[in-house]
Amino acid sequence: MSSPLSKAIDKFPRVRLGHAPTPLDAAPRLGASLGIELWIKRDDCTGLAMGGNKVRQLEFPLGEAQSRDADTLLITSAVQSNYVRVAAAAGRRLGMEVHIQLEERVPGVDALYRASGNVLLDRIFGAKLHSFPVGEDEPAADASLDLLAQSLADEGRRPYVIHLAPAHPPLGALGYVIAAEEILAQVRSLDLAFDAVVCPTGSALTHAGILVGLRALGETIPVYGICVRRDARSQAARVRKVASELTGMIERPEVFDADDVKAFDGVLSPGYGRLSDAVREAIALAARREGLLLDPVYTGKTMAGLIDHVRSGVIPKGSRVLFIHTGGLPAIFAYGDELGPWLSDVPWDRRVDH
Ligand SMILES: *Cc1c(COP(=O)(O)O)cnc(C)c1O
Repeated sequence: MSSPLSKAIDKFPRVRLGHAPTPLDAAPRLGASLGIELWIKRDDCTGLAMGGNKVRQLEFPLGEAQSRDADTLLITSAVQSNYVRVAAAAGRRLGMEVHIQLEERVPGVDALYRASGNVLLDRIFGAKLHSFPVGEDEPAADASLDLLAQSLADEGRRPYVIHLAPAHPPLGALGYVIAAEEILAQVRSLDLAFDAVVCPTGSALTHAGILVGLRALGETIPVYGICVRRDARSQAARVRKVASELTGMIERPEVFDADDVKAFDGVLSPGYGRLSDAVREAIALAARREGLLLDPVYTGKTMAGLIDHVRSGVIPKGSRVLFIHTGGLPAIFAYGDELGPWLSDVPWDRRVDH
């Protein structure tokens, strides 16, 4: 890559895992339903193991793992995590053994949730699965992973741990600084000017990476993060922390202003990984208007957030909006028992298809 930021980014070891650039697709029928001009950055098409944003994010930690000659990868996240699924694939591709710690983040889940979707893929990749009973304690999840790494090291393995809590440098966000450069190049070649970018915000690696990347390249376009896990206040604090650390890593400490972080939690209820009618409606609308799949945990919620922003006027009608599709599609199958009955409910069908 040759760009204004490449000198700073090239200092970090990286392995190429994904297909890039991903397409930037117009979504005219879905956009018309919402009253905006909608474009989709197709990061569901990053290639490796069904793609998604984790492919870009993992290029940096796995680069570091390789540079340390690690032979075993450890990672922790939710049961239906896309992160661990892509990590399992990436680790295998680099010849590593993979240990996955699955946290109980979503209450009241069914058997399908535990067996299908990403969990099934983790098992196909032959990852060793460990269970962690707590869902909302990232430092404890990391500490438990470190203990496991220690016992593997005692057995003579060379473990590399991908930590979760923001106490660790946000290497993965570099992947979204690169994505921001990629987006700007596409936007320029299409001769388009966007009024808003909308993306999910969870660990904040995607949100912070895009925000810092755009600002470092001189773009002032607003970036709206739709909360998928925490309330807006704690999420904004997390994005600020990751973003300011990232500006240090890419040696652009001046580009980022704390007021620039927008986090919206109006569609978060009933909580992480749980469906609402707004999310179901967004999934059905994207599928039926555009033939576009969204996932139940992240992109469906983010589309619901975009719909809410247009209805409330935060994003004015007629705006040209870029929606970052971060993938997550295998989870659709793990939510089949919750989505299926809703889809066969006729009144809802009418509501979406009118
Ligand atoms: C992890 C994930 C997100 C959240 O991205 P962060 O970088 O963790 O904020 C969004 N969408 C999908 C599909 C994901 O797997």
